[in-house]
Amino acid sequence: MTSRIKPTVSIAFAGALLISACGGSSPAAEVAAQPCGSGEVVSGRPLQIVSTVAPITSIIANVVGGSGAVVNGLVPEGTNSHTFEPPPSAAKVLEESDVVFINGLVLEEPTKDLAEANIASGAEVCEIATGILPEGEWIYDFSFPKDGGKPNPHLWTNPPMVKEYAQVVRDTLVKRNPENAETFNTNFAAFAAKVDEIDAAMQLATETIPAADRKLLTYHDAYAYFARHYNWTVVGAIQPSSFEEPTPKEIAELITQVKVEKVKAVFGSEVFPSPVLEQIGKETNAKYIDVLRDDDLPGEPGDPEHSWMGLMRFNFVTMVEALGGDASALKALDVNDVVKDSAVYPQ
Ligand SMILES: [Zn+2]
Repeated sequence: MTSRIKPTVSIAFAGALLISACGGSSPAAEVAAQPCGSGEVVSGRPLQIVSTVAPITSIIANVVGGSGAVVNGLVPEGTNSHTFEPPPSAAKVLEESDVVFINGLVLEEPTKDLAEANIASGAEVCEIATGILPEGEWIYDFSFPKDGGKPNPHLWTNPPMVKEYAQVVRDTLVKRNPENAETFNTNFAAFAAKVDEIDAAMQLATETIPAADRKLLTYHDAYAYFARHYNWTVVGAIQPSSFEEPTPKEIAELITQVKVEKVKAVFGSEVFPSPVLEQIGKETNAKYIDVLRDDDLPGEPGDPEHSWMGLMRFNFVTMVEALGGDASALKALDVNDVVKDSAVYPQ
């Protein structure tokens, strides 16, 4: 059997989503969470898993491929996951789930609230990133200021942390569905090896960029933990914490900063198109690149690159080449999921 990852939010629903500033979100540690894997054992039927953003759904797919588990990604690709509100129809999917994996670090509070209100007894919500990163190591920065109460949640752009995500998924599922433990363990080992490969390739590619040019100015603030790991500097992020456009004053300050820091390229995003980037590019000598994909997997469902690995390779190659480096080690990577037929993703 193969794992099937099916969309649960139709395009029509996605169009009707409310965008909210998440004013009613609850603090991270309001309820003492049970450790992941504390739900009831499931046997004799496929495990029902719910996930949120596509890169995390892909990481889970790599661990469960071939076990028969069903994985439902709730956040449609190309959607702003930071303001995502699950549609009412998600309640039923959550009700039927055994495990709801969310990133945590206060990224998906509306989905977490709906999950906690609807999951059956014996099911569980597992906050992956919150479990692997001690609060003292949370990064608050440009679009995620400390007084906003939401740390930068993007651990999944940093390969070593992704290995930890996969480990949490593996450990949780081995406890919840022991009859498939061997599959989860084998898949984890294969996926961890691939994550090590992209990490090594990114280290090599970094070496080819002059040290003074390893600077990131992105629209969406998604590379804080990546930058700390590869010793790059995030000089800023254009998107304000409100996810609105920056003010003219903020844009003027960014233009000054790009000139002073001699930033070579400014990176925008397909998920968050913005005319601001072009303006900054025009008024400085920086290249502007508007193709970073954030949570939007490249290609179509079933394509090899429609995966976490494919997404990271695309974004890393784009950044390395724009900064004058050699991305050939990254380009040589095989980005297929470890179990080939698990690559069916939400639209
Ligand atoms: Zn994001």
